[in-house]
Amino acid sequence: MHRLVEQLTRICGADGTIVTRHARDTYGSDGLLQYHVTPGVVVLPDTAEQVRAVVGACHQAGVPWVARGSGTGLSGGAVPVEDGVLIGLNRMRRVLQVDLDNERVVVEPGVTNVDVSAAVAPTHVYPPDPSSQIVCSIGGNVAENSGGAHCFKYGFTTNYVTGLEVVLPDGEVVTLGGAELDRPGYDLVGAFVGSEGTLGIATKITLRVIPKPEDHRTLVAYFDDTTEAGQTVSDIVAASIVPGAIEMMDQLTIQAAEAATHAGYPLDVGAALIVELDGPVAECDARFDEVVDICQRNGATGIRVAADERERELIWKTRKAAFGAMGRISPNYYVQDGVIPRTRLPDVLGRISDLAREHGLKVANVFHAGDGNLHPLVCYDGRAPGEAETAERLAGLILQACVDAGGSLTGEHGIGLDKREHMNKMFSEADLDAFQRLRCAFDPQGLANPGKVMPTPRLCGEVPGPYRQHPLEAAGVAERF
Ligand SMILES: Cc1cc2nc3c(=O)[nH]c(=O)nc-3n(C[C@H](O)[C@H](O)[C@H](O)COP(=O)(O)OP(=O)(O)OC[C@H]3O[C@@H](n4cnc5c(N)ncnc54)[C@H](O)[C@@H]3O)c2cc1C
Repeated sequence: MHRLVEQLTRICGADGTIVTRHARDTYGSDGLLQYHVTPGVVVLPDTAEQVRAVVGACHQAGVPWVARGSGTGLSGGAVPVEDGVLIGLNRMRRVLQVDLDNERVVVEPGVTNVDVSAAVAPTHVYPPDPSSQIVCSIGGNVAENSGGAHCFKYGFTTNYVTGLEVVLPDGEVVTLGGAELDRPGYDLVGAFVGSEGTLGIATKITLRVIPKPEDHRTLVAYFDDTTEAGQTVSDIVAASIVPGAIEMMDQLTIQAAEAATHAGYPLDVGAALIVELDGPVAECDARFDEVVDICQRNGATGIRVAADERERELIWKTRKAAFGAMGRISPNYYVQDGVIPRTRLPDVLGRISDLAREHGLKVANVFHAGDGNLHPLVCYDGRAPGEAETAERLAGLILQACVDAGGSLTGEHGIGLDKREHMNKMFSEADLDAFQRLRCAFDPQGLANPGKVMPTPRLCGEVPGPYRQHPLEAAGVAERF
């Protein structure tokens, strides 16, 4: 390690190589604060060439590494490996090319999600919009196949990445895809998007952008319960209306988020449904009245229509503040991320509320309702003995309920460290072996983000060098605190 650190310092410079214990500690967790591992060394490369040299040096030394964007991930994907190298990509934040005529933008991985839209404003927009968009990096979005409120209509990150420059785990640089939408050969861009840092590091990303919708109309409707709000979502979709976004919050979430934003949401309603139509003015006008009508038919107790951009922003600010605002009602919380078929919303919410009661914990719910993507927020007090473990158990049972309802383990936050042991709820051993064979084709030494995604440590055949043992076993599995 000592020799490797000297080599990394030559590559990234002293100001791009972090060796002191307290400074390395600050990179120990991502947005899932339940895990913390201090990396052996942190490097902050400034260029793709430096990334290539760093990964190549790790390959030669047989030392595992973890890529990190902004560290907002909620599944522990960027949690380091002890005695491994953490590669922070936030210094690589250049917009390399804007080609609005062909609706493409090329960026480095550390550019934030909002800065992609800013680079193509005011005529164009990059639609995938995670609530963390002012901070999270586009490299992290690619690795997690991130979603957001507007993905119901516009699709996820994977629908916008057309090309990637990737540093493979042996330090080789390859180009996957390009500017075109349909590329010859295997869809390796598709395989890379959502691979959670296990196949290599994206150093250059070509994205599709779209013309900014001409108009938008936004309302928030209030209901006595989430069942009525859920039925409203189904009825809107059944009427062939495709809103730009449909988002739901339950009472506990409204109370926490309103305390943070003071946007004027009533605190006594059972659910709030934000519906935003976008597109041509005529289409928004024509369909908006239909949406109001459907809300009323399903028992909406009040409807607030955004009168101007300021009010629209206020309505959205409350939804986007929902996760962070949980701190107002609970010392700790665990963000769960599962998917269910939209029509199963009432049963699954009923099951979540039964589970919460049985475990003696509160669960707030916030959803990308159009996609059936639930974010149950399991509230607990980490100072109370055993409560963190109870919260984790409850979160696992919620995931099981989603899978039992015909859904999925994750809608957008990825598997990471947090959900790897749940993978066999959804996939057979043969499925997991197929994933592993793909991973081994990219990373036969098992050095790229080891211990993530797969439920049990797996190797790719006989591994040469010091990491004959799986790197996570050699280093000690991530400790929980
Ligand atoms: C308040 C809050 C709200 C959120 N809302 C949403 C939401 O609405 N939708 C959503 O999808 N997510 C959301 N998230 C989760 C998170 O913001 C996303 O997963 C985001 O894409 C992570 O980006 P990051 O730059 O922080 O990545 P990190 O957390 O740093 O890393 C995430 C993963 O990406 C890998 N990685 C990072 N950069 C690269 C690269 N260049 N090449 C290869 N692998 C790389 C890492 O190894 C890790 O596995 C939210 C998080 C928070 C804290």
